[in-house]
Amino acid sequence: MLQNELQVALSAVHSAMTLSRAVQGELTLGRWDKSDRTPVTVADLAVQAHISAALAQHFPNDPLMAEESSDELQTPEWAACLEMVTQHVATVRPELAGNGNAKGQVLDWISRGQQAPDPARRYWVLDPIDGTKGFLRRGQYAIALALIERGKILLGVLACPNLAQRPGKLGQAISPKDGMIFFARRDGLGAQAVVAPTGEPFHTDWVPVRVNQADAATATWCERVESSDKNKDLTTVIVERAGVTSAPCRLDSQAKYSVVARGEASIYLRHTLDKTYREKVWDHAAGVIVIEEAGGRVTDLRGQPLDFSLGRELSANRGILATNGILHAPILEAVQAEGLFSE
Ligand code: AMP
Ligand code: MG
Repeated sequence: MLQNELQVALSAVHSAMTLSRAVQGELTLGRWDKSDRTPVTVADLAVQAHISAALAQHFPNDPLMAEESSDELQTPEWAACLEMVTQHVATVRPELAGNGNAKGQVLDWISRGQQAPDPARRYWVLDPIDGTKGFLRRGQYAIALALIERGKILLGVLACPNLAQRPGKLGQAISPKDGMIFFARRDGLGAQAVVAPTGEPFHTDWVPVRVNQADAATATWCERVESSDKNKDLTTVIVERAGVTSAPCRLDSQAKYSVVARGEASIYLRHTLDKTYREKVWDHAAGVIVIEEAGGRVTDLRGQPLDFSLGRELSANRGILATNGILHAPILEAVQAEGLFSE
């Protein structure tokens, strides 16, 4: 089932890791600020162009929903950025070399990600560099690709290019030598992982990934780096109310889903005090299927299933709770007791 889709997704994500690592290896990491004042790098745009091109080549009828747009990249102020993006994409897509309109082609590939898919038909969801702030700090980041149909995630590929192979002490998980790819498919295959070191061909020695069996006394947990101190204080209050005493580990990106899926942490709790914020589909789709197929559970903070059928945002949901399953009900009870969504 979906064997070809999985192979294409794995191969595109794996070569995208080569691309993102090349950008991260450069001495000065160029950063541009988008109109919403969030940062973007050459890697975000080049990875989106590359994966979009691979999907268009193999599955021309599948729409793509991806984070980045090409609007700003087409303006004169961004000309240097477009030049660099095109050069990087050409290293993984040799067909660009003979193209007299290489920049136009790159812009077209990026723009495909702004399509508005029909939720009744299948479509791909991509976060080309999830955790751009982590990427800029040379910390954790992810390349996240998923296939969705009627709100159901069919498969997910989640690359964490700086995640250490061996689950170590949480928070010291960064190892640019290693790098991991996780994938999951909704057919009983379970979640799988492989080490994907820099400069090596694609590995096929996949190993199954399982959540741990921790209870509150032995649980470890993770959360965002980028949330406010007030936000972090509240997360700690909730987790402690559920009887968990360990200190949090803070990681950027969907690497948080990976560490829960492989049993390194037992809880990933995400909330924001900004009541108007809605989570983005590409920030979660790949990570959610990896955790669920690894035996864990994911809902929003009210215990509702995540509804992936509503366009680019999880507009019916508030916050995220991903756990090993055992700790799900205790944390939801603690969230309710704190009155987080009593408004
Ligand atoms: P993380 O690395 O877990 O901090 O997640 C990074 C993602 O958080 C970005 O890609 C944004 O889409 C998303 N984001 C931006 N602002 C907020 C917010 N106020 N609350 C939750 N997520 C946000
Ligand atoms: Mg993201």
